[in-house]
Amino acid sequence: MLRFVTFVLVFSSLASAGLGVVEVPPARRAEAEARGLLTLADQGDMLFVLLDENDAAALRAEGWSAQVLDPEFAPGTYFMVPHTKLNPPGAPGRILWDDERRAIVRLGEREAFAAQDEGWLLVPLPRKPRLLQPDADAGFDWAPDSAVRRMADMVSLDTLMSDIRRLQDYVTRYSYSPKCESVALWLAGEFAGLGWDVALDTYFLRQPTTRALNVEATWPGIAEPDSIVICCAHFDSYSRSGMTNAPGADDNATGTAILLELARVLATSRFRWTVKLLAFSGEEQWMKGSYHWVDSVAIPQGLDIYGAFNVDMIGYTAYDTNHLVVNRDVASQPMALLAESTNMWYDIGLSILNYLDPDCAGDNTPFWEVGIMSTFALEDSEWGIWNGSNPNYHTIYDTVGTLRPGQVHRVGKLTAACVATVAGPDGPTGVVEPASAVPVTGNTSGTLLFSRVIALPGLWEVYDITGTRVASGRETGFGAAMAPGIYYFVPTDRSSGPRRVLKVE
Ligand SMILES: [Zn+2]
Repeated sequence: MLRFVTFVLVFSSLASAGLGVVEVPPARRAEAEARGLLTLADQGDMLFVLLDENDAAALRAEGWSAQVLDPEFAPGTYFMVPHTKLNPPGAPGRILWDDERRAIVRLGEREAFAAQDEGWLLVPLPRKPRLLQPDADAGFDWAPDSAVRRMADMVSLDTLMSDIRRLQDYVTRYSYSPKCESVALWLAGEFAGLGWDVALDTYFLRQPTTRALNVEATWPGIAEPDSIVICCAHFDSYSRSGMTNAPGADDNATGTAILLELARVLATSRFRWTVKLLAFSGEEQWMKGSYHWVDSVAIPQGLDIYGAFNVDMIGYTAYDTNHLVVNRDVASQPMALLAESTNMWYDIGLSILNYLDPDCAGDNTPFWEVGIMSTFALEDSEWGIWNGSNPNYHTIYDTVGTLRPGQVHRVGKLTAACVATVAGPDGPTGVVEPASAVPVTGNTSGTLLFSRVIALPGLWEVYDITGTRVASGRETGFGAAMAPGIYYFVPTDRSSGPRRVLKVE
């Protein structure tokens, strides 16, 4: 409460605030935390915050070094350019701040894409600030569970590695390549084939033409289906020759393969809560896919999400260790503690580094911005990766042969155990229950599976897995019998609405 009052006093003119910087000597860190600074990036000794000239003057009067960098706060246009060996000297765009470690720049979307194509590593600042606060002193109530151990033990090294190979064999999964959509449809089919409800979430990378897909797979809970736990990973890849070659084995076929393995392993159990596995595209375009899902699905539908375990780049071990970094924000401490505990409970064999790093940009960021817990499992610290700890990062050399399979296996087990623990095994386990088959009304010989997800209001077009249009019309008007296979539905007004997946057997 005290902090809130401070916040109101300091930022009475929030609407007109700009982007600013406050230097924080270690001796004054606690004082800064108590002050209620609205922070976009916390670099330890330096905070990038919402600030107007009055705030800055008030801070300077108290002996802080504070200045306004951009008087007009423009969310979504600020990027950090780390001065590491992955970046040339200098910085692109309008430079607001520059020191030895990083530059802060302002770039429009078009300029940002152009700079990325020129080879700049740009790290987006969050769109919404958070209140700077001391680290959490948190705990949790979970305990070891034999059903969870069984599922962790089921995670298969062979399946994980063959799925990584399969994803790499698409040659590229660059968000702007048509291959990326093929991968989305393949993933949708895999999830559906394992009995999960599947929906495709459509959005635009660049208006109005570049459509992209997220894949959402749902395993409904038994006792409290409205409570949801998420595991997410991005399946798109990046290299400077992204249209033709971006194997992205580590970044992020590893995380995507773990999603597929979770789909297989968790489908042997029922849970108290609903599990959602989210495969995002557009991460390399600064989390366009996950921002879209959070803003257009989670928030409007009022989903009650406990938290999201994000897995991204976990297969390359620069220093030949079993380290796994679990990055988190202050509020997400219970999820990181759970990762530490499951690692011990189920003898997984990782060395977990629980890092408070609320600047760590990934598909966790959109969740953090709306107050949903999330952790980012990563093979090294973010600065380590930007300093080239995986020399193949974002190049055509990020291939499966450079990975350490045992590490992928361990992180797969850990992720399965964490998600299963939060979801809470319920009832008999070890049995795959067949999805309920519901006959389609109307003139078709097909059978709709996973009917809970499929709702087709209005006019839709139906495409097969190759992207060929096979039907259009209303829900019951498909007319011709559909051959067995995976189909997807697109609203005919081509708006950025959801697509739905339909499997006909
Ligand atoms: Zn990634």
